[in-house]
Amino acid sequence: MIDDLHRIDSEITARMTDLVDLRRHLHRNPELSRKEFKTTALLRERYTHLGFDVRVRSQGTGALAELTPHGFDPKKHPTVALRTDLDALPIAEENEVDYRSQNDGVMHACGHDVHMTCAFGAAQALAAIDHLPGRIRVLLQHAEEIAPSGAADMIAFGALDGVDAILGLHCDPQLPEGVIGVREGALTASFDRFIFKVKGVSGHGARPHHTIDPIFAGVQLANALYSAVSRRFDAREPMVISIGEFRGGAVPNAIPDLVTMTGTVRTVSKDRRQHVRPLLEQLAAGVAATTGATIELDLYEGAPPILNNAALVGEFAEAARAILGDEGVYEIPLPSMGSEDFSNFLDHAPGAMFRLGTAKAGRDVHLLHTPLFDVDERAIAHGSKVLARAALRVLHKLADDRDALR
Ligand SMILES: [Zn+2]
Ligand SMILES: [Zn+2]
Repeated sequence: MIDDLHRIDSEITARMTDLVDLRRHLHRNPELSRKEFKTTALLRERYTHLGFDVRVRSQGTGALAELTPHGFDPKKHPTVALRTDLDALPIAEENEVDYRSQNDGVMHACGHDVHMTCAFGAAQALAAIDHLPGRIRVLLQHAEEIAPSGAADMIAFGALDGVDAILGLHCDPQLPEGVIGVREGALTASFDRFIFKVKGVSGHGARPHHTIDPIFAGVQLANALYSAVSRRFDAREPMVISIGEFRGGAVPNAIPDLVTMTGTVRTVSKDRRQHVRPLLEQLAAGVAATTGATIELDLYEGAPPILNNAALVGEFAEAARAILGDEGVYEIPLPSMGSEDFSNFLDHAPGAMFRLGTAKAGRDVHLLHTPLFDVDERAIAHGSKVLARAALRVLHKLADDRDALR
C-alpha cells in the first residue's frame, strides 16, 4: 500500500495545473443553492471521463459518481464515500483576480469550489490505483448553504446505500496553507431556527391595561431564553441562543397586536439538542401564562452537530503528517458553533470532516462568507492528498474488518 500512497501523491502533484484550472473555472462560474445545474453537468462530464459511473438527480442538481473495481461484491467489499458540496452564496465578489466570479452577485465565498476540486483530485488519483480494495463513491451535494439543505435529498437518492465510511473537508481561512485541522468528536454545532409569533391585543399607549402587550411579552420571552441557557444547563457544555430579528409595532403611542422573534439555537451534543424544543415550548407557555399573550412557536430543526469518528480523524492526521510533517497537523481545541449539513450523513454511516488550511502568507485573513475570501491554491494539493490517502487506507482497513469503524 505504501507504493499506492506515493502514487496518489505523485498523481496529484502532476495534475496540479489542471486542478487549479478546474478550481478557477468553478470559481468564475458559481451557482446558487438548488441552481447548480452547470456545475453538476461539468462534474458529470469530468467524472465520466475518469471512468466513474455518474447518476444525476432528476432535478439536475446533485449527483453520485462511483468507481467500482472489477469483481466488486457489496457483501464482501467496502464502500468509502467522499463528499463535496456544490453551491455558492449570494455575495458580490470583491477580489480583483482574473478568476473572479462572472456571475454577478454570486460567489464561491465558502470555498466549495476548492472542495469540489479536492474531491476530484482525490478521485482522479484513486482511479489510477490498480486493484482498489473496494468502491469509491463521490457525493456531489447541492444546496449546502440553505435550509432545508440538500443532504436529505442526497440520502433519499441513495447516497449512503452500502456506504461504510464517509469523508469530507472544509476550507479554513484562519489556518495557514500547509496545515490540516483535525478534531475527534464535535467539530461543528447543531442548528435549529425558531420563529415565535407573540400575539396580543392592540390599543392606545396611554392605556396599556386595556391591551395585551406583545412587546412586553416578547421582551419577557427574550430574557427567559437568554437566562435559561446560563441557569438551567451545565456551563461546561455549550449552547447558544441568539435572537436575530425582533419585530413589532409602528408608532410611538400605540401598542401593536403582534411581535415576531426569530433566531437560532446551537449545541454540540445530541443529548443537549434534545432539550431545545421542550425548552422553547415551556418558556413560551410560561410567558403566555403570565402576560396573557398567545405565543406560537415554529421550530425548524436543521443539521445536527458533526461528531467526527475518532479512527477516521486519525487517518486524516496520519495522511497530513505523511505529506506535510508534524507541523502540518493542527488539533482543533474547540468545536465551531457554526453548522455544516455534512452531519446529516453521519446519522447513517461513520464519518469525519477535516479543515483545510487555506490562508495565504502575507495576506489579511478574510473569513468564509465574506466578499474578499480567497484561498492559497497550493492547499488543493494537500486537500486532495489527505482525502485520497485516507480513503485508500480506510478501504484497506474495512476490507480486513468490515466493523473496524463501528
Ligand atoms: Zn458556507
Ligand atoms: Zn461551506
